[in-house]
Amino acid sequence: MSALHRAKAAGKNNYHIFSSNLNISTYKQYELERDLRKAIKNNQLLLYFQPRVDTNTRRMISAEALIRWEHPTWGIVSPAEFLPIAEEVGLINEIGDWVFQNVCEYLETWKKEGLKLVPISINFIAQRFLRSDCIPMIVNTLKKHKVDTSLIELEITETSIIHHEKEVESILTQLDEIGINVALDDFGTGYSSLAHIKDFTIGTIKLDKSFVQQIAIKPDVEIIIKSIIFMAKGLNMNVVAEGVETLEQYEFLKQQECTEIQGYIFSKPVPEADFLKFLKTPILKPQVNYLADGMQERRAFYRLQLVFPLKADMTITTFKGNSVTLGKTEIAIDNIGPGGLKFYSTIHLPVRHDIIYEFETVIMGKEVKIQGQIVWKDEQLDGVYQYGVSFIINEKDRQDLIKLLNNFSLKLKNNVLVQDTNFAHEDPLSYIKKINQVS
Ligand code: C2E
Ligand code: CA
Ligand code: CA
Repeated sequence: MSALHRAKAAGKNNYHIFSSNLNISTYKQYELERDLRKAIKNNQLLLYFQPRVDTNTRRMISAEALIRWEHPTWGIVSPAEFLPIAEEVGLINEIGDWVFQNVCEYLETWKKEGLKLVPISINFIAQRFLRSDCIPMIVNTLKKHKVDTSLIELEITETSIIHHEKEVESILTQLDEIGINVALDDFGTGYSSLAHIKDFTIGTIKLDKSFVQQIAIKPDVEIIIKSIIFMAKGLNMNVVAEGVETLEQYEFLKQQECTEIQGYIFSKPVPEADFLKFLKTPILKPQVNYLADGMQERRAFYRLQLVFPLKADMTITTFKGNSVTLGKTEIAIDNIGPGGLKFYSTIHLPVRHDIIYEFETVIMGKEVKIQGQIVWKDEQLDGVYQYGVSFIINEKDRQDLIKLLNNFSLKLKNNVLVQDTNFAHEDPLSYIKKINQVS
């Protein structure tokens, strides 16, 4: 953080930032922090919607509103990236109210268009929830847009309940009285028991995706899921399983009579235009190929697919036409050829031709330093991204690279870990998760 503030002070009236204390992700963070205040005013915030589907009928019976920020440089920024900044700079409540208001506006518009509505669930942070103007804000906004309370559900996290029990209980009771359902988000991550929660007026629990994703992998987690669903049913609560990605997980949850399914298997969160299609045709089909990457460009050169990835340092040398000096960030190269490479990183970067990157690695004792631009990207699970890079390289350097890669390719046939080469000793996804401490 301090590097960020120093750079900010130094770069106050100056577009450029020259600091090798800043790497690409702190630089991005700096820009996001600088621009967030303007984002609301400039209409850069938007809502995506993700269907929640009845397990048996596959009918969309509600949907969750999820916020996005369309940043002019960095593209779509995820809430996991900018909400912590919003909290830090004191914009979190304003953004929360923006979400609530926009959901109500959408519901009003859809109703006018004659669509059959489903309840929309809205994420609320404890801090907003506990403010005295919370209920009045909700009531007034619903009234203004003529939205019935049954069309809104609030999601609060399990952990926020644990920390403020008494206050939360009273607000939950008031919400219950005006007819607003509350769902307990990320259930299972906060170690609270259903026995404890039954005293709160909560209609729905959302089983955290970290549980769902252990189905068919960890038998003991399956037993926990079974008992949560069983007990919730006894207490008259709905159970929504979050993060359902595979048919196997879906079948298991169906067998356990889990009420609702939310996850990529039915749909990723989508912008309004796509969501309208679901409202019009609400029976959804499980998608099994959503992970297939179809974005690879047509290539003029071959690529060398590596068994073990190359560790490399990456930096940005040109940012929107201006040269910059930033620190290095470690990435993993999965394939490389004379025309470009593919790498893995946890940083979410935009596909833009006016940002030029530099990559540095060592192949057979030779330091390789090449520049290029990102031409496609694809999201792996758990916040790891894959990027396709096209090199910006002169003909002579290209010929040298071809020679080196030809030699490298011959050596790789005898030994996948060619000597004096900057290999990581695991697959690129595990390696990137490890160095960034992603679980
Ligand atoms: P959450 O409330 O737990 O939302 C579910 C997250 O899981 C979403 O991430 C969604 O895109 C993702 N997801 C859904 N299905 C799958 C799946 O099958 N597999 C995987 N791997 N992920 C899946 P998203 O949209 O990036 O939001 C992240 C978090 O940001 C949310 O977690 C929520 O805590 C917060 N958030 C999003 N929108 C808002 C908002 O309007 N207000 C507040 N306060 N928080 C928000
Ligand atoms: Ca949620
Ligand atoms: Ca959740």
